[in-house]
Amino acid sequence: MTKVQNRSTKDDTPIQELPMACADEASAVEFMEKHRWGEHPGCPHCGDMDVYRMRSRDGSREKYFRWRCRGCKRQFSVRTGTVFEDSRIPLRHWCFAFWRAATSKKGVSALEIHRQTGLSYKSSLFLLHRIRFAMAGSGNGPLSGTVEVDETYVGGKARHVRDRREAWARKAPVIALVERGGDVRCLHVNDIKGETLKDAIRSNVDRGSRIMTDEAPQYRGIGDEYEGGHETVKHSAYEYARGDVTTNTVEGFFSIVKRSINGIYHSVSKKHLHRYLDEYEFRYNGRGLSDGERTVAAIRGADGKRLRYRAMVAA
Ligand SMILES: [Zn+2]
Repeated sequence: MTKVQNRSTKDDTPIQELPMACADEASAVEFMEKHRWGEHPGCPHCGDMDVYRMRSRDGSREKYFRWRCRGCKRQFSVRTGTVFEDSRIPLRHWCFAFWRAATSKKGVSALEIHRQTGLSYKSSLFLLHRIRFAMAGSGNGPLSGTVEVDETYVGGKARHVRDRREAWARKAPVIALVERGGDVRCLHVNDIKGETLKDAIRSNVDRGSRIMTDEAPQYRGIGDEYEGGHETVKHSAYEYARGDVTTNTVEGFFSIVKRSINGIYHSVSKKHLHRYLDEYEFRYNGRGLSDGERTVAAIRGADGKRLRYRAMVAA
């Protein structure tokens, strides 16, 4: 996503259309067509613009809402080439889940989708994993300027004291890098050793940047590789800011992540953690957009990400 813009002041058309798109299948298809393709679609198979809506005998749209290309004679629909292509779940439920996932502060649970749509819990989970996949990669290019970096452990909350050791084993290390006034990158890492954390910085942050962290020894030496240097706040000495040297932005991001993981998602498995992180990243990076714009951005993220569920869970 691009740099944060001021919250849009123009009419938020998608948000006015969404309630209808979530209630009625034909409206859902039209909503997806309009926001994926704009005024006129091209053929996803050959690129020909000479395409038309297929009709039933009574003139209404064909029951799968397909289009046909006059160039290659092949058929397609608004699902073609997206994460929802090989799903039979009605598009109105996809619209609802995209809307909720893109706009609720802490994200949406499969249980809520199940209750609101009547889909099975398993289908709701399936749909949300694909939406998270559509949201992945919301950041553009390397971070620059002043970048705050921090690491933490998430998940694995203990219910009883005797579960503590087990709970700790289930915790996963996560690093977040936030450009002040810009995007965040949040990654599930193998460990929090110096080289692991520094590699995450090197592959996500432009060399001209200025790095800020707490006094954790793992970050020592990273300043030699960055033109803006490396500054630290000493949390151990109760220091939270020295001039503009703070890690408050990245800590604010982590507090959202933790509230979500420990709140509605309860037990996120390590295998799926990166998908949830993609979702938090997406909402943070799109914080300057209106709710309708952010929902459309998520739907557009589904383009070119056709993915089979089996391949995804096997990964
Ligand atoms: Zn074609």
